[in-house]
Amino acid sequence: MRLKNIKGSREYIAGSDYVISEEIMEEYRGCWKEKVFENDRPLQIEIGMGKGKFITSLAELHPEINYIGIEKYSSTLLRGVQKVEENPLPNIRFLRMDAEGITKVFGKEEVDKIYLNFSDPWPKDRHAKRRLENKLFLARYYEILKPEGCIEFKTDNTALFDFALEELKGEPWEILGVTRDLHHDEVMNEGNVMTEYEEKFSAQGNPIYKYIIRKIQKGSIENE
Ligand code: SAH
Repeated sequence: MRLKNIKGSREYIAGSDYVISEEIMEEYRGCWKEKVFENDRPLQIEIGMGKGKFITSLAELHPEINYIGIEKYSSTLLRGVQKVEENPLPNIRFLRMDAEGITKVFGKEEVDKIYLNFSDPWPKDRHAKRRLENKLFLARYYEILKPEGCIEFKTDNTALFDFALEELKGEPWEILGVTRDLHHDEVMNEGNVMTEYEEKFSAQGNPIYKYIIRKIQKGSIENE
């Protein structure tokens, strides 16, 4: 979701208390809970949050959890930041960054859960390395997730979902749940919070796919 460049969005974001600036975010590596949230509650992150409806809804529903929303583009992030400024929440922060640098920003086993929602599909083969569900990204997530930490991924894109499942083969993840029609899957859909894209694409009649995977110890691979 790349909105037209909104004039002043960089400056606006830089001035918000909800956004940790690029210059200092690496200083919090390993100590987000203590130094930023000043508590010891679980930390959950969404990568590619877009305008942030999903993560701000979660933050409202779960004051007992700390949330960080990550988005590459200032113009997109701006909407999420404004939303929280209008309706203040103590348990959410935002980072404008490329997910490639995620291990520089979060320490080993620092994150309790990662959400990936409607990631850019990058349909061309030569762009597969940019897909947020590829093996390289999974290895980065593995590093920052606590033992048995989970990733929840939703999309309406068949090719991306098939790719994402393929990428799990031989990797140290246990599949806890898979559905190709989330909204009609009573168990997987329980408590589902819709994202902006999810609302848009399901209204067009597209089924929503979802997987939940859990980090397992290397050497105990079951899903080969
Ligand atoms: N999660 C939202 C938006 C989905 S669109 C929703 O479901 O409604 C995908 C978003 O991911 C876009 O806003 C895009 O800018 C962001 N994104 C894509 N690649 C990224 C990367 N490498 N790092 C951070 N954000 C990224």
